[in-house]
Amino acid sequence: MSKLRFKSVEEASSRKAVKVDMPKERVDRYFGRQVFNRAKMYDYLPKKTYEALVKAIDNKQPLSRDVADSVAEGMKRWAIDNGARHYTHWFHPLTDGTAEKHDGFMEPDGKGGVMEEFSGKLLVQQEPDASSFPNGGIRNTFEARGYSAWDISSPAFIVGNTLCIPTIFIAYTGESLDYKTPLLRALNSIDKAATRVARLFDENVKHVNSYLGWEQEYFLVDEALYTARPDLMLTGRTLMGHESAKNQQLEDHYFGAIPSRVEAFMLELELECHRLGIPAKTRHNEVAPNQFELAPVFEETNLANDHNMLLMWVMDEVARRHNFRVLLHEKPFDGINGSGKHNNWSLGTDTGVMLFAPGKTPEQNLQFLTFIANVMSAVHKHNGLMKASIMNATNAHRLGGNEAPPAIISMFMGSQLSEILDKIEQLDDHKALTLAGKNELRLDVAQIPELMVDNTDRNRTSPFAFTGNRFEYRAVGSSANCGSAMIALNAAVADELSQFAEAVEAREAAGEERHSAIFAEIKKLLKQSRPIHFDGNGYSDEWKAEAQRRGLDTETSAPLVYDAYTRPESIEMFERTGVMNRKEIMARNEVKWEMYSKKLQIESRVLGDLAINHIIPAATRYQSLLLDNVYKIKQLFKGEKADRIARQDMESIEKISDHIAAIRGEVEAMVKERHKANRKPNEREKAIAYHDYIAPALENIRHHIDELELMVDNEIWPLPKYRELLFLR
Ligand code: ADP
Ligand code: MG
Repeated sequence: MSKLRFKSVEEASSRKAVKVDMPKERVDRYFGRQVFNRAKMYDYLPKKTYEALVKAIDNKQPLSRDVADSVAEGMKRWAIDNGARHYTHWFHPLTDGTAEKHDGFMEPDGKGGVMEEFSGKLLVQQEPDASSFPNGGIRNTFEARGYSAWDISSPAFIVGNTLCIPTIFIAYTGESLDYKTPLLRALNSIDKAATRVARLFDENVKHVNSYLGWEQEYFLVDEALYTARPDLMLTGRTLMGHESAKNQQLEDHYFGAIPSRVEAFMLELELECHRLGIPAKTRHNEVAPNQFELAPVFEETNLANDHNMLLMWVMDEVARRHNFRVLLHEKPFDGINGSGKHNNWSLGTDTGVMLFAPGKTPEQNLQFLTFIANVMSAVHKHNGLMKASIMNATNAHRLGGNEAPPAIISMFMGSQLSEILDKIEQLDDHKALTLAGKNELRLDVAQIPELMVDNTDRNRTSPFAFTGNRFEYRAVGSSANCGSAMIALNAAVADELSQFAEAVEAREAAGEERHSAIFAEIKKLLKQSRPIHFDGNGYSDEWKAEAQRRGLDTETSAPLVYDAYTRPESIEMFERTGVMNRKEIMARNEVKWEMYSKKLQIESRVLGDLAINHIIPAATRYQSLLLDNVYKIKQLFKGEKADRIARQDMESIEKISDHIAAIRGEVEAMVKERHKANRKPNEREKAIAYHDYIAPALENIRHHIDELELMVDNEIWPLPKYRELLFLR
């Protein structure tokens, strides 16, 4: 057994960087080469079709059938010219990752030959037999089928020899079965609501876009070591492993030199990203050993999210070519940092104004404060829901644990903005505002120092931080579909903005001056949402107690955190904004609970197997070596002397016995609890049982195994250790 481990370690440490074929041309020549973007559309579509398609995309309208036929024809020609042989509707089911069903372009021509076939009908709509995707009971297999339909706002692209068409995935009855559908609805809703508010300041505004810039953290491990760890292979994390003597305490990994093997991987990954139109920009080491980050330039939220899903897919492929496996799990290793996916989020008008960036004039700053106050209020009202939107079985290891970010959603605003917000709250509007026509608006607090735009005083412990011209939602998990967080955030803010517009319009109708009305409403929001604002240390125990006093959601159990979705205020908010209806929300929660239980069930089975079939036999073998030694000592020496010489081995023998007994007992008890959990009457209760009984059992068993790892002969230990997994050369 140990032979396997040592062979893996040897193989891993002897590897050299894989050579990457870099194109000779400049990046702008190959950027987006595999994407059916506007330039390709222009080349491949008849002029009329091109114009109709661009108009439909810009105005968010559906395509007519004959336009779709013509687009399909052009898209197919482009795809075949670029080596594609198959096409697929590419969608985001409620599981992790993406799904696709490949069809060939080839159709029999009825004369014994074949022709390339791909009609508008096939482009615009498909019925994948996807009854096995989780749907929370919305779609019984015998009932209606699911449909996938092209999302024209996200361009098609080629991966390998397959044309991928980004699609939504819905039930026959219209309910969404994916992330993209409610995301598009949320983005539509925030466009409407934010435009309405922005028009209070500038009537030329026609649209507001939501922007997302994600930062993807990940770990790399060598493939040979990975395949010698069944837990990594089957669950994405190490279920056991004692801390390495050296890990991140020297903080020498962050911004340190990137190992050449990893550099080659990154080079190729970036190349692939650029060909696929993903604007990958920064890459660096993260805090933990073997941990890295990739971030693109921000894009419109729906496209950015597609690009993140695509990146996670491509990353995996490229890693394999370099004899690595990429770990997207939030907490692959105990005792060192986990991985997140910061979601940098902002809103911007079609007139070029970034709405979370302070402006130059008092009026611009009133607009800035309007949007800031609305976000604060939305996040405050829905802080439990926000947490639910980023919670899952894997991210729970970060959120509940003693690590960034805490399981309480609060907002960091920075010292400068905090000061301004405090001032506004205390101001008496009538004195503060001298309103003599628009441009003479005098409002001391609206003279916001320009310095703030480059506000770098960051608080790394905050799950949701204002960073100068955007918010950084840091609690999102590294393996997550950002869609979930973006649906909740954009919908909640849209709802808040609609109410804000209504309140201001009502005041205006009652004769109040517009800016005064806006100011009064901002003040109200700031007062109400005061509890969400916290600039202190989010990891401290005092904050937990304080947050509770403030009435923020401090629940840490994932299955209970999900309850936030089904509370009346959440359902009403989602229904008002048209993002999801009650039936969809309920069904999605069923899926969340089910996924939670299933993940823990798998972990529990894997750990049980490893403990019984790998660890106990190894420990027993070592114990038997010790017993043999003691026996020989007693043969050679006599009495008190023999006892003295054998004492330490005897103690080890006992300790090993105790750990083995504990592991056996705990595994047996865990299996019983699992069977009990599986008999629970519904998914929610099952998930609660998995959380309450299986998760702690995993920890307890692990503890005994990790103790054994420190005692047992290194040559006998069957699995690669942390120090081997974590230090790539
Ligand atoms: P950090 O210091 O947090 O690593 P970076 O400069 O690397 O910050 O930027 C992180 C991400 O934030 C990038 O994807 C970047 O494009 C994005 N970003 C910058 N400005 C905005 C904005 N106004 N809206 C959304 N995302 C933004
Ligand atoms: Mg960041």
